[in-house]
Amino acid sequence: MTVQKSCITDEFRSAFEYAAIGMAIVSLEGKWLKVNKSICTIVGYTEEELLEIDFQTITHPDFLGEDLEHVRMMLNRQSDYYEMEKKYIHKQGHSVWVLLSVSLVFDPEGKPKYFISQIQDIDARKKAEEMLKNYTNSLEYSNRQLEELVHIVSHDLKEPLRGASYYNSIIAEDCDVNLNSDLKKMLNLQNILLKKMSNLLDHLLYYSKIGFEHLAFKETNMNEIVGSIINNTLKVQIESDKVTIEVLKLPENQKCDFVKMQEVFQNLISNAIKYNRSQNKKIVIGYDSKKKFYYVKDNGIGISDYQKESIYRMFKRGHDYKDLPSGSGVGLPIVKKIVERHEGELWCESSGEDGSGSKFCFTLGNLS
Ligand code: ADP
Repeated sequence: MTVQKSCITDEFRSAFEYAAIGMAIVSLEGKWLKVNKSICTIVGYTEEELLEIDFQTITHPDFLGEDLEHVRMMLNRQSDYYEMEKKYIHKQGHSVWVLLSVSLVFDPEGKPKYFISQIQDIDARKKAEEMLKNYTNSLEYSNRQLEELVHIVSHDLKEPLRGASYYNSIIAEDCDVNLNSDLKKMLNLQNILLKKMSNLLDHLLYYSKIGFEHLAFKETNMNEIVGSIINNTLKVQIESDKVTIEVLKLPENQKCDFVKMQEVFQNLISNAIKYNRSQNKKIVIGYDSKKKFYYVKDNGIGISDYQKESIYRMFKRGHDYKDLPSGSGVGLPIVKKIVERHEGELWCESSGEDGSGSKFCFTLGNLS
């Protein structure tokens, strides 16, 4: 029995000693009482050096308050265990990220005896996360810069375009009698092209502005948004196309920008009507409360996987059929950008261009 016990003690001792993660016994005041090799490697101190000091000495000041608060709560029996990510200051002066897990050991009378701490080196992961965050920030910054540049360029290009249209109209009016029919046709074509260019610039201007303009996130009743689109904005189109629209219960306090969200639903609903050859056009607008996404589902022409890849790009159209209304390919890119500004995602579910319809879905983030 005694032999067995000492074997177990030896096994535990070596398990403690050689554990891959740092393990320590720490006094109620924070002094290191026993430390293993892994801790020494993580913080760069020898065992002897660590046993001379307490955890407070090598804890990064940014994390000391939180750590001591956890200790206080454990000693007050408000918690049995805590876990936190924190930084130690390595003996050479740099900081090291660790995941610390602490529990409290009691004596047979139930009085707190010491803490057992487990310390995992998570420095590489945290530094990779920090690097990724920095890259993301700088990428977001360059994207914003690019959007502002597009905005400025499109804005400035409008001016000479207005001038060209103006001179075109003067030529058409003043020289009308002197122009032969070929020149008149050319002048007319030139006018159409100038108008087209002006429209493209307007769309580009608007699209780029969404990327950086201020959005007012407020709690919104989504039923009101959809209701006003169906009963006002798209009323005529819905009635003339004899569309049946079913609106299922939508969240009443969704954080979003009211005006922009109107635009999202308006685009998706009008597309659901437009890309539809069914005799009885039917649209369902709903919210999946389990997976937390909104959707606009139609029984229209549907869309293939191949087309899905390009429809969110500016000025790209998936279908261009003579029997369906024409478009400019800006609706979905705008919807996508608005959804992304709401920290959400937009996607389309459809089994292909087989007439079984499409379901456009989007999430919205937890906005503050
Ligand atoms: P537009 O309607 O002006 O072409 P959008 O950006 O709104 O521009 O849509 C891009 C393309 O996505 C459309 O040209 C169409 O091919 C496809 N699309 C959009 N909504 C639907 C829908 N509900 N069903 C099928 N295809 C759709």
